[in-house]
Amino acid sequence: MVVQISADDCTGCQVCIDTCPSGVLVMQNDVSTVANPDDCTDCGQCLEACPLEVISAA
Ligand code: SF4
Ligand code: SF4
Repeated sequence: MVVQISADDCTGCQVCIDTCPSGVLVMQNDVSTVANPDDCTDCGQCLEACPLEVISAA
């Protein structure tokens, strides 16, 4: 699974960043960005945490 974030829809609330236990997501240009994809454990917590559901898994 590769986590993807729709940058156009992300409000930069940082909920997903605070939720991810593996430090995969970071803020970049006021939106959440998948900075360390190799560290993702596919736990799915960020997908459930995003209030706008703009995180998807491919
Ligand atoms: S699926 Fe889990 S490990 Fe991967 S980015 Fe989301 S919260 Fe982090
Ligand atoms: S939780 Fe959703 S809206 Fe908030 S920063 Fe993450 S991707 Fe963006």
